[in-house]
Amino acid sequence: MSEPRTVVVTGATRGIGRAIAERFVAAGDRVATLSRGSDVPDGVLAVPGDVTDSAAVDDGFTAIEQELGPVEVLVANAGITRDSLLMRMSDEDFDAVLDVNLVGAFRCARRASKGMIRLRRGRIVLISSVVGLYGGAGQVNYAASKAGLVGVARAITRELGGRGITANVVAPGFIRTAMTDALPQAQQDAYLAAIPAARFATADEVAGVVQFLAGPDAGYISGAVIPVDGGLGMGH
Ligand code: NDP
Repeated sequence: MSEPRTVVVTGATRGIGRAIAERFVAAGDRVATLSRGSDVPDGVLAVPGDVTDSAAVDDGFTAIEQELGPVEVLVANAGITRDSLLMRMSDEDFDAVLDVNLVGAFRCARRASKGMIRLRRGRIVLISSVVGLYGGAGQVNYAASKAGLVGVARAITRELGGRGITANVVAPGFIRTAMTDALPQAQQDAYLAAIPAARFATADEVAGVVQFLAGPDAGYISGAVIPVDGGLGMGH
């Protein structure tokens, strides 16, 4: 087993982020979350922090570093949807989704990179979506935000790859969480029919891939997009 590290998972109050945080805790790492809520898994340090607020992100990382030591792993997971058809989508709904999903991940990566550069090692994992490259009707804002994360990871890889830092994207397909339970049944049925694996995934199946990318066996993987989608998005 590798040495315990300080891991930050944004949005670990529920769903995929919660499962990711639980995995790192089980592996013996020191885990913190920046979240708006405080209901987090046992063993996770909850630091209040809205990822749309740069000062809150910076202060949250400082508090985590003081409590748990330098941050070596960042999992930018916090995300929202505000779906509507293109011609009805408001500027507010477009901006709100970009601000959490894309700019929020940038804010966290920017702050985390400072300590990682000093450490000369670090792992950044950005939680995207199959929708980022496959598209999704009614999800222009969400798809743009998730596709943008690929550019973020690849730019970070080119900028910081020589300093022992990797940046990768995990692109889940349909995972059973509160976010997907909120989709209309017809949309859920349509996804199920299109998934070669013929089932939805569990949050833990995403968490296992994130843990691999953050672990010692993935040191030479960077700038990659790893699908966890049962084959839904093949051809990326
Ligand atoms: P949930 O809605 O279940 O959880 C989202 C998490 O993000 C919550 O912990 C929420 O915390 C947090 N969050 C939202 N906004 C903010 C914010 N401004 N600042 C800090 N935290 C915030 O979503 P999922 O677990 O389903 O999704 C997690 C990630 O995986 C998202 O990025 C999503 O896009 C992606 N994804 C999900 C898929 C799925 O099928 N479920 C498929 C593909 C990708 P709180 O509201 O308590 O602050």
